[in-house]
Amino acid sequence: MQLVTYERNNQRSTGVLTDAGVVDLPSASHGTIPGDMLRLLQGGAAMLAQAREALGADSPIPLADIQIKAPIAKPGKLLGIGLNYADHAAEGGRKKPDYPLIFAKTVPATIGMGEAIHLPPVSQMVDFEGELAVVIGTLARAVSARDALDYVAGYTICNDVSARDYQRRSGHTPGKSFETFAPLGPVIVTQDEIPDPHALDIRTVVSGQEMQHSNTKQLIFRIPYVIEYLSHIFPLEPGDVITTGTPSGVGAYREPPRFLKAGDTVRIEVEGIGVLENPVVAG
Ligand code: ZN
Repeated sequence: MQLVTYERNNQRSTGVLTDAGVVDLPSASHGTIPGDMLRLLQGGAAMLAQAREALGADSPIPLADIQIKAPIAKPGKLLGIGLNYADHAAEGGRKKPDYPLIFAKTVPATIGMGEAIHLPPVSQMVDFEGELAVVIGTLARAVSARDALDYVAGYTICNDVSARDYQRRSGHTPGKSFETFAPLGPVIVTQDEIPDPHALDIRTVVSGQEMQHSNTKQLIFRIPYVIEYLSHIFPLEPGDVITTGTPSGVGAYREPPRFLKAGDTVRIEVEGIGVLENPVVAG
């Protein structure tokens, strides 16, 4: 299933994206399934099973009549893993880390497909990072890597937008937490449809030019290990998002550097999930 948060006549709801449009889940389930994605995910596997059952009960709303929003507007935690692709660590002249480098994106809210990334006037070095993101589905506290994928609801795409000047001056969290720096979506693909999250082609195109092209098989720390590691620090809760790191080709390490400018569009494609595209505007 491809879960979405969408808006119609200024009203937000949850749905499932199908070839014919979006099936509204609260309506198809006669009110059993919440119209809020965080609450839906808190219902765990049972709620996802209900969504699957409800699918046929209502006709899809055409995409032209709705707006797809970020699947989770305010994740309880939005965590990033730094230097998690061998090729990206190498381009920055860094050796492969021994342990995951973890940071929090403390953005006020994520933004969805088509919503603008605002360039903050104080930064001259705003960069893109195309990433596969994991959405937690079940409370995970000190879990083992072997069981870790049981705690995953599904996968989405994140653009881990980064102000490199602030990242260098003040650390990952400020550099990556400016408002609008977390495009997310467009869908959460449930885990059953992604049997191997470590075999997905990933590509970032900025204003028509391919900047990053890799595969999630390049991940240094794989998703089960990352979940094990994080879940021993703090509990991971339904709706928490872990963005798994970016491959080589970011703007900061290009010759010459290529930072985002007003008028750009950033398009991230992840195999099996879809396309997340956002315009860039002056802040
Ligand atoms: Zn990143």
